[in-house]
Amino acid sequence: MVFDIGSGAFANLRQFVDYHRLDAVVITHMHADHFLDIIPLRYALKYGSLRRHGKLELYLPPGGEAMLRTLVSAFAPESENDFLDEVFDIKVFTEKDSVEVKDLRLTFSKTLHYIEAYAIRATAAGGTSVTYSADTAPSDDVVKLARGSNLFLCEATLGPYETEGGMRGHCSAREAALMAREADVESLVLTHYGSGIPPDSLSEEARRHFSGDCGVADDFLQLVVG
Ligand SMILES: [Zn+2]
Ligand SMILES: [Zn+2]
Repeated sequence: MVFDIGSGAFANLRQFVDYHRLDAVVITHMHADHFLDIIPLRYALKYGSLRRHGKLELYLPPGGEAMLRTLVSAFAPESENDFLDEVFDIKVFTEKDSVEVKDLRLTFSKTLHYIEAYAIRATAAGGTSVTYSADTAPSDDVVKLARGSNLFLCEATLGPYETEGGMRGHCSAREAALMAREADVESLVLTHYGSGIPPDSLSEEARRHFSGDCGVADDFLQLVVG
């Protein structure tokens, strides 16, 4: 299962998983850095050598389907609807939904972001759980969703001396760690940080506020959870 698929993610994914074996793709919000590689994934599913039986479930947030179809209409106007529907089974989730995909149950919580966005908690049949913050400013609802998770994958967009004026939509490493502490999660992995920020400085900052396992995500990082 893939949570968000921004630019470059599809190529990276192919290093580990044959794309025709995916069970579902879930998009947390419709910012381009979280969904653009739906397009190359679509081309692979349609024309690639690996064939799957049936369509791939694509879960989008409310309003996501219309936005994706508008994007497609700009470059494939003749097949605006077929382009997606030939390979994807598009479904729209809301905060109230609980989605079952194989042995994982997904639950959602709205985040504090510039547009409607959702954090996801994936819980396996045995209770092991991973919560992914998507993009969010510090949020009680995300803390509630993440409560007791084995892994909390949290964004840390803001650099150590960066602050957001006005409406907030992102966290610093410190704020991510404070959420992890409040949610009493087992381990925290920071992600969605700027390329100019040394990863070590993020984990150092987070460790000051969170005593559980703490790490920083990077391309090709593999973790065993539970
Ligand atoms: Zn965003
Ligand atoms: Zn983002």
